[in-house]
Amino acid sequence: SDLSTLISARVRDVPDYPKPGVLFKDITPLLADPVAFAEVVTALAEGHAGEVDHVVGLEARGFILAAPVALALGAGFVPVRKAGKLPSRTLRETYDLEYGSATVEMHTDAISPGDRVLIVDDVLATGGTGRAAVELVRRAGGTVVGFSVLMELGFLKGREKLSDVELRALTSV
Ligand code: 5GP
Repeated sequence: SDLSTLISARVRDVPDYPKPGVLFKDITPLLADPVAFAEVVTALAEGHAGEVDHVVGLEARGFILAAPVALALGAGFVPVRKAGKLPSRTLRETYDLEYGSATVEMHTDAISPGDRVLIVDDVLATGGTGRAAVELVRRAGGTVVGFSVLMELGFLKGREKLSDVELRALTSV
């Protein structure tokens, strides 16, 4: 599609970042292009008007996309952050990484039972972060109405960890 082409043209491949052997997808050129940024926000929000109470953004680049999506939908914004960053009482989820583990948190009172939630992030890689975010929302009593990302790295099979949610990727590589 046109949007997929635009995204591919504005996301830069950075070899060996953050470590040797990793090809990092750098979204900063896309964010710096006002037309591309606006089109991406519109596409992430599309079809969700009137059905979302909160948009959850995943630290850190997910925040940049989720906040304007929340405003576009007339919904509130809720951050899911790495451990130790949120000031009040939190729910936490720990998940496995290639080496070790990671923990993400959400404020206990950020989502109320029955809330309809759209989760937004920049890149879906292995799906570990996304899976943890889904669990946090559900433990708070929320319903995940969708999970939308700018880009999916298909070869990492993150989609398999999110088979029980409505997953939208604006482009897949
Ligand atoms: P996962 O838990 O799916 O393996 O990793 C997803 C998280 O790591 C996302 O929050 C995403 O921001 C970040 N991430 C992993 N790989 C990349 C990448 O190549 N580019 C960008 N921009 N983010 C990545």
